[in-house]
Amino acid sequence: MISVDEALAALFALAKPLGTETVELRQAAGRVLAEDALATRAQPPFTSSSMDGYALASEDATQGATLTMIGESAAGHAFEGTAARGQCVRIFTGAPLPPGTDHVEIQENVTADGDRITLNDPHAPGSNKRARGSDFAPGDALRAPRTLSAADISLLASMNVPRVTVARRPEVALISTGDELVMPGEEPGPDQIISSNGHGLDALLRGYGALPRLLPIARDTADSLASAFRFAKGADLIVTIGGASVGDHDLVRHVAGQAGMEQSFYKVAMRPGKPLMAGRLNGTPIIGLPGNPVSAMVCGHIFLAPVIRAMLGLPAGPTPRLRAPIAAPLGQNGPREHYMRAQMKDGALTAFERQDSSLLRILSDANALIVRSVSDGPRDAGDTVEYIPLSPYA
Ligand code: AMP
Ligand code: MG
Repeated sequence: MISVDEALAALFALAKPLGTETVELRQAAGRVLAEDALATRAQPPFTSSSMDGYALASEDATQGATLTMIGESAAGHAFEGTAARGQCVRIFTGAPLPPGTDHVEIQENVTADGDRITLNDPHAPGSNKRARGSDFAPGDALRAPRTLSAADISLLASMNVPRVTVARRPEVALISTGDELVMPGEEPGPDQIISSNGHGLDALLRGYGALPRLLPIARDTADSLASAFRFAKGADLIVTIGGASVGDHDLVRHVAGQAGMEQSFYKVAMRPGKPLMAGRLNGTPIIGLPGNPVSAMVCGHIFLAPVIRAMLGLPAGPTPRLRAPIAAPLGQNGPREHYMRAQMKDGALTAFERQDSSLLRILSDANALIVRSVSDGPRDAGDTVEYIPLSPYA
């Protein structure tokens, strides 16, 4: 049995970055930028007003000064002329400051009478303007790799970058296995259950930027599994669920081996999730997850997420962990790294009483996984522990 860290290192050796593609900005949110995007212009492209008011020379921005208004500069409608000392231009937010002006006095501080204005308590000279290029200059870059946020999309649009080069999304073939399983919405027989892991992992993988494909459930026969592997052809990653322990019906490793899998590892010192398997099947990385629903999902967070990130060209590394105190004591941990479903509330973590790996309700109620390292001693309330936050969408 290998450690979680060793398993991750082995997975990073299997999972390499995929190619890139170009997409329209509207398709780019959540994608991983694969090439730096460069601004082709300055923003703002001219020094502009940040307020509605009057543009004037900062030397004239003195208490009681009286100026003559010679025109107007509105957004999209620049004033064509030049202002001399003692003159001002009516200006609105986003409009270019006319030549000869470098200060905007807000209209609230001005008394206007026809084309004459008087300044009352003006702002400091040079106020209320946005310098050319103060947001970004031509050639400024948004650097790859980077998962594009809505704010990034807005920035790219502003940079006049209508298309970006992003990492191709890894196609993941998801194969549930088991004679007891039927798809959600189907009518189960008296000895059957609904397959939950396929849908849970599909959602998880989508959240991490992959393109999962839910293959038909494979039955616990060599033939059915072998044909599932054939269906999986073309995928960037194959993920099997269940059939990975040592029961008489646990065929995945055996059939994958017959189909040509070179095994990288089998069994990881973790709880839940021990019978994890990984290898390469005819060039394609394959990960065999345990069937217990919580084990499958926890392995999704601990292993699939970093693998997908690496395939997207993001830095190889474990799922980030934070630290927080526990609200109640925890007993001695055993010889496997333990991921305990927990509630993070008011800055403290409480592990759920029941940690059986079949209990999806408790995973659904959890918003954190407390990480207990191998043989971690008993912990008192108030001790700080490591945990992995579970986002509401993962
Ligand atoms: P296995 O690894 O095939 O022995 O499965 C372990 C446990 O997980 C058994 O109770 C299975 O019924 C259950 N299980 C396996 N695959 C799934 C699945 N896709 N959805 C829900 N439960 C599953
Ligand atoms: Mg099974």
